[in-house]
Amino acid sequence: MKVGFIGLGNMGSGMAANLLKAGHEVAVYNRSAEKTRPLVEQGARYAAQVADACRADAVFTMLADDHALECVVFGDHGVLASLGKGKTHISSSTISISLSERLTEAHGKAGQKFVAAPVLGRPEAAAAAKLAVLAAGAPDAVEPCLPLLEAIGQKTFRMGDKPPVANLVKLSANFLIASLVEALSEAMALVAKAGLDQKEFLKFLTSFDAPLFKVYGTLIAEKKFEPAGFAATLGLKDVRLALAAGESLRVPLPIASLVRDKLLTLLAQGGEKLDWSAVSLIAEEQAGLKARVA
Ligand code: NAP
Repeated sequence: MKVGFIGLGNMGSGMAANLLKAGHEVAVYNRSAEKTRPLVEQGARYAAQVADACRADAVFTMLADDHALECVVFGDHGVLASLGKGKTHISSSTISISLSERLTEAHGKAGQKFVAAPVLGRPEAAAAAKLAVLAAGAPDAVEPCLPLLEAIGQKTFRMGDKPPVANLVKLSANFLIASLVEALSEAMALVAKAGLDQKEFLKFLTSFDAPLFKVYGTLIAEKKFEPAGFAATLGLKDVRLALAAGESLRVPLPIASLVRDKLLTLLAQGGEKLDWSAVSLIAEEQAGLKARVA
């Protein structure tokens, strides 16, 4: 396919290279033009302007943030003004839901197609075509682009026909990862302060088969909180103990404090006999969802 690629940063340069490797005809644009050079050497066409990259069946954008994407799409001679009717804008940046909604509407009005395709994976994964791609958009927009998405990732996950949903899933995944990273950081700081080598702790953590996401994700999604595999009361005890250890070692554990209060709320609302994963009910209740603890 004839593809344009706008935004050759840490992620975009690897993604554009993989489109080339897969045999697509790629035109590359970047605000700082020198970043196009390695790709041009690999066979890409140099696009001096955004509009040049839009002379294609589909144009990817992989830009830093909402502001960058707004400049490139809605600016003079931007993507909206330059992309042909029936052609597709594939947006892979991590952006807000509101901008994704605005793009869906604006491209629709212009007779163009819009696909949200945010990605999970760091630059090394982008370079190795190992990204997880979250694709959402009308089927007649997404389906012709599947070969492009397959070229940049190891798997494409379809997220329905509303582009902002893919952006929401991406933000949720990053929030989750951020929380895990924070929690892991707190635990690592705690063991280090107690004198254990962090690498030993990590070896222990990764040495047995404990698929956390699958186990807890299933309990939460299926609301399987009884009989409790690990009771909320016990979970509270352990978090409290970790906090006490942190206090005595002078290690702040802000996420642990937050989790303690969440578990306490679960117990206060009658969740004494539930699995500790029932703490998810508090989040659902606070979000106005139907779930109730008791
Ligand atoms: P990056 O290396 O900082 O690249 C940012 C790109 O945006 C560059 O091409 C930059 O152009 C361009 N840009 C910034 N402001 C601009 C503006 N006002 N007008 C035009 N172009 C502009 O970022 P990245 O790591 O590739 O990330 C790109 C997107 O992917 C972000 O939304 C990020 O959240 C998301 N993401 C990143 C990762 C990761 O691990 N890095 C993983 C998944 C998703 P210049 O080269 O001229 O500065």
